[in-house]
Amino acid sequence: MQCGHCGTEIRDGFAVCPSCGAHRRQDGRLIGIGLFVLLVGLVASLQAAGLAQYSIAIFIIGVGALTTRRGLRKRWYRHNA
Ligand SMILES: [Zn+2]
Repeated sequence: MQCGHCGTEIRDGFAVCPSCGAHRRQDGRLIGIGLFVLLVGLVASLQAAGLAQYSIAIFIIGVGALTTRRGLRKRWYRHNA
């Protein structure tokens, strides 16, 4: 695996670059937002009256799921970010 910032080769299993200090992690804030949106969509789908409202609820659930998935993907962050 290579550091996403400086390109230094890093042994597998290490989450911090020994050269520039960048670290690889999930985006907890994005996961939180995604799960919240997902929950809003679920509640909206339970209270939906009619196909139009149900479609909107399903759309919100989709956005929440995509946002959560993006947050779960590990990415490189600079040491001070
Ligand atoms: Zn690095």
